[in-house]
Amino acid sequence: MQNVTLNNGIEMPILGFGVFKIPNEEAEAAVLAALEAGYRSIDTAAIYHNEEGVGRAIAKAGIPREELFITTKLWVQPDAANTQRAFDASLKRLGLDYVDLYLIHQPFGDVFGEWREMEKVYGEGRARALGVSNFYSGRLVDFILHTDLRPAVNQIEAHPFFQRVKSQRVLEHRDVQMESWGSLGQGKMGVLENPTLIGIADSHGKSVAQVVLRWLIQRDVVVIPKSVNPTRMAENFNVFDFELNEDQMRSISTLDKGVSPYQDHYSVDSAERLGKPDDLSSGLL
Ligand code: NDP
Repeated sequence: MQNVTLNNGIEMPILGFGVFKIPNEEAEAAVLAALEAGYRSIDTAAIYHNEEGVGRAIAKAGIPREELFITTKLWVQPDAANTQRAFDASLKRLGLDYVDLYLIHQPFGDVFGEWREMEKVYGEGRARALGVSNFYSGRLVDFILHTDLRPAVNQIEAHPFFQRVKSQRVLEHRDVQMESWGSLGQGKMGVLENPTLIGIADSHGKSVAQVVLRWLIQRDVVVIPKSVNPTRMAENFNVFDFELNEDQMRSISTLDKGVSPYQDHYSVDSAERLGKPDDLSSGLL
């Protein structure tokens, strides 16, 4: 597996497995199948309500802990003082004594207060790296300028229709690793049916999903595709035996629409719907 080195020196696999929308009772089987397929990096979150299922799979698989890279995320807290309790609860559900990466899930609420609490967890070695998610560039730079420990990762939406090239430049300049969520357009929005991508995929005897993951990996972006289907898990893992040429990279770059088809984290709607403590009723989670 190809790794990236985070700004604190730790190594993270460039390809992992996401578990958004996999119910807790199905997460164990899905993660076990993913581990069987070769994935060693798993991305979950407190708000996914499936950390227990993920933890059961980790325990059952019997893979040495140091070979795994486990990420979970802090949801928006009613009070930053609750951060360590939320972290402890995630660890307990996962059945682990440390995580590899702990992210602030959304750029809402008292993220500065939460970060100071997370820095304590990091100092104790209970999270090997800290990062953020869904931070647009301005917010990220403001955050970096007013915190002691620099985030190691920003996990943001990125796929062929919303490529985030400028955001990536800002992240690279600040030594923050870009990680893509929704790489496959969440299996909708037409990414997987796009004729340009189909043409490139056919020329390599690969699927569109493989081409999209390969394109992000060639941009040095960490990817965490989700699937509950073992055939597709294996397909998404098998992206290291071909290379997109410059023309193909350029032709994919023309597909960028520059805006998210899902949600704008600057919007009032996002602040109102995502910026509150655990609430599954919004439909966005
Ligand atoms: P993805 O872009 O990974 O797409 C997942 C969808 O694509 C599923 O419906 C899956 O269906 C389908 N799919 C997967 N592989 C293939 C394939 N080879 N061919 C055809 N269809 C395929 O979306 P996600 O939203 O899940 O993003 C990935 C991960 O990123 C999440 O699981 C989560 O860990 C993280 N994430 C983080 C967010 C954040 O706010 N920080 C927001 C959203 C996601 P099936 O399962 O049936 O195969």
